[in-house]
Amino acid sequence: IIYFFDFTIILGKNGVPVAENFRLEQSTIADTIQVGQVRVRTLYLSVDPYMRCRMNEDTGSDYLLPWQLSEVADGGGIGVVEESKHDNLAKGDFVTSFNWPWQTVAILDGNLLQKLVPQLVNGRLSYFLGAAGITGLTALLGIREKGHVAAGANQTMVVSGAAGACGSLAGQIGRLEGCSRVVGIAGTDEKCSILVQEMGFDAAINYKKGNVAEQLRELCPGGVDVYFDNVGGDISDTVISQMNQNSHIILCGQISQYNKDVPYPPPLPPDIEKIQKERNITRERFLVLNYMDKQEASVLQLCQWIQEGKLTVRETVVEGLANIGAAFQSMMNGGNIGKQIVSVS
Ligand code: NAP
Repeated sequence: IIYFFDFTIILGKNGVPVAENFRLEQSTIADTIQVGQVRVRTLYLSVDPYMRCRMNEDTGSDYLLPWQLSEVADGGGIGVVEESKHDNLAKGDFVTSFNWPWQTVAILDGNLLQKLVPQLVNGRLSYFLGAAGITGLTALLGIREKGHVAAGANQTMVVSGAAGACGSLAGQIGRLEGCSRVVGIAGTDEKCSILVQEMGFDAAINYKKGNVAEQLRELCPGGVDVYFDNVGGDISDTVISQMNQNSHIILCGQISQYNKDVPYPPPLPPDIEKIQKERNITRERFLVLNYMDKQEASVLQLCQWIQEGKLTVRETVVEGLANIGAAFQSMMNGGNIGKQIVSVS
């Protein structure tokens, strides 16, 4: 008997996702596996903002397929091989995939799995879903491909969604790549204090309290040179208003807009767009999947930083497949600090 999650409702563009959009069911899988296949036990699953788009009939992106009603949901996952009929995979190997089914046990095509080396992350396998996986790659490659960060150039970086998976790494990587000042924007005082005390941000602003524009002006007296944008909306309009001539936005994500009926990337309001144009601020779409030729070298860089203690990694771990829908809902509402992980077994 295995447990799996299926997906029970199409949200449409203005729906707010809740745990009850998912249904847990018991089922059986085949007793035997075919040549080329492996049977895996799931260890960790990832819940991510892009999954909200997979809850629509039209995801808005050609690289994202909608989840189908009453079929097993899938996403980033890690597991251990329990039986193998694949030449390059053996019992006990740790493997990962972007399309891991939300099941406790699964039979998968071995060709679609990547083998993992636990030593690279000091044995913290779940890091391959976060700091040493797509999340870390997004932060690193976003900065390198779109940030124009140059050591010694005295740049100030602002990060929104700063205490989340990508944001918490982006601020630290911005510093490692040479920014002289890094300021985060996040949704609670606890998050802000972790950013400053543990992650080396110079300052952090709780956007749910006080006046963000005023605080930003005080904390970035020389203006903003690089903006790592995870959220869009009002927060981003405020940051862009304080950006310098010839500065750069890393357009990572726009989570504040994901439940709304707007195209991606959402257009800026006319007054903000005017500022962007007049100040020659770049705002190019960034998609980590377009840079997978740099995956191997970049993962090694991230793992090296983790081993050297240069990257502080935070995770929020929820136990049990039964709680994955709640974990997704919580992450979308800011319940996580660092990467939201579901520990399955
Ligand atoms: P995450 O930041 O760990 O989790 C989402 C966070 O968003 C929450 O913790 C919450 O923190 C914040 N949030 C939710 N609603 C908000 C709102 N209305 N306004 C401001 N903040 C809000 O998730 P992640 O996986 O690291 O993803 C971060 C962003 O990166 C997302 O936009 C995602 O789509 C994007 N992304 C892009 C790529 C790419 O290739 N471009 C790849 C991966 C991820 P608070 O408490 O601070 O509100």
